[in-house]
Amino acid sequence: MRAIICGAGVAGLSLAWWLDRAGWEVLLIERAPGLRDDGYMIDFFGAGYDVAERMGLLPDLKQIHYPIPEIVYVDRQGRRGASLDYDLFCRLQNGRLLNFMRGDLVQVLFKNLSESAAIRFGRTIDAVEIRQDDVEALLDDGRRECADLLVGADGTHSRVRELVFGMEQQFFRYLGYHTAAYTFEDQALRRELQGSFQNITVPDREAGFYPIRGEKVAAFFVHRTAHQVLPLSPHEALESVYGDLGWLVPAALRHCGNGAQVYYDQVAQIVMPQWSRGRVTLLGDACYAVSLLAGQGASLAMAGAYILARALHNSASIEEGLARYENYLRPIAERTQQAGRRTADWIVPPTRLRIAIRNAVLRIAGFPGLSWLLRPALTSGTASLAEPGWASVPNAS
Ligand SMILES: Cc1cc2nc3c(=O)[nH]c(=O)nc-3n(C[C@H](O)[C@H](O)[C@H](O)COP(=O)(O)OP(=O)(O)OC[C@H]3O[C@@H](n4cnc5c(N)ncnc54)[C@H](O)[C@@H]3O)c2cc1C
Repeated sequence: MRAIICGAGVAGLSLAWWLDRAGWEVLLIERAPGLRDDGYMIDFFGAGYDVAERMGLLPDLKQIHYPIPEIVYVDRQGRRGASLDYDLFCRLQNGRLLNFMRGDLVQVLFKNLSESAAIRFGRTIDAVEIRQDDVEALLDDGRRECADLLVGADGTHSRVRELVFGMEQQFFRYLGYHTAAYTFEDQALRRELQGSFQNITVPDREAGFYPIRGEKVAAFFVHRTAHQVLPLSPHEALESVYGDLGWLVPAALRHCGNGAQVYYDQVAQIVMPQWSRGRVTLLGDACYAVSLLAGQGASLAMAGAYILARALHNSASIEEGLARYENYLRPIAERTQQAGRRTADWIVPPTRLRIAIRNAVLRIAGFPGLSWLLRPALTSGTASLAEPGWASVPNAS
């Protein structure tokens, strides 16, 4: 059996790993010239953690892990207002929580992929023809590739989804925020952070900075805006939205204009009535993006890859496998999407009063015996995988 996977991100590389184990020939098509090195930190727990364990990746993931004792919330003068105890978050996840940069996760997945999986960088798919018994993809270099299955694992703005299912706006649920992230070098700003993760929250806006390896700092921004359209210049947009915040923000914004690779996007979820059509299916953010507000997109991308490979392995036909995959994963993804929408006001509170309430809850939860106050916020949306009743993929634990 042969699969073409469009997108060598978290979902695509994980699926390539599992299909390769199951004896498939795999071809990955990735638009970027190399592995994308986007600069934002992810919390990794729940279903994805379980799958990473089954893939034997935990030792590698522990190498790229950043131990985070706490996230400190400061005011415009940089004074500490409250903090979120990450040890508590970790305990509530039964110790099964890691933090790393998305780019580092992708590197680990790539490193663990067998050489038999082929990958073409700097390429995309221009057309798809679904036939009775196979599918043909026309690449942008004019080559045609046939396979038993084409998987669109190409993220929220999926090309495969557009080619096979239609325009993005039908499936795009804008949640009312824009987000941005980038990394830069600044020794003075790094020293100010004193090794900790620090965030500033004002109504409808949040900015955070944290030191990362290579003497760098990672910056993260999220703000509410009714204006869904992306700005032409992310740098100018960030300047105009966050420029007045004070503290370390102006210094960090200067680096955004200095050629830093800036990730800037809408905060959105993808909601589709069907994830597959004929010999084409979608995976990860392409069909069930939960958004950064749910904090589990990477985790669910890996979980989806595992479930898809396992469903295909245990089905008499591709169509049956695709139906099993969707039946199993859809309710989990929908619950996580709901949880993400619920936590939006906690992450980016809309008023000063809501910020004060959040900070008060964080302070009170710091007293002995009161940590349960944070349990709903820190665990209610955790996606987990009950073991499907199907045989596991061969050669995998
Ligand atoms: C700021 C932020 C914070 C987040 N925090 C967390 C968190 O704490 N925990 C968590 O689990 N998740 C988090 N997420 C979500 C997580 O990063 C995504 O859900 C996850 O990366 C989705 O994986 P994916 O492989 O489906 O898509 P992606 O990671 O987007 O990968 C898609 C791949 O497809 C490629 N591609 C795109 N278009 C094409 C094309 N036309 N042709 C070929 N290739 C293409 C891309 O270059 C990329 O390599 C966060 C996201 C953001 C933005």
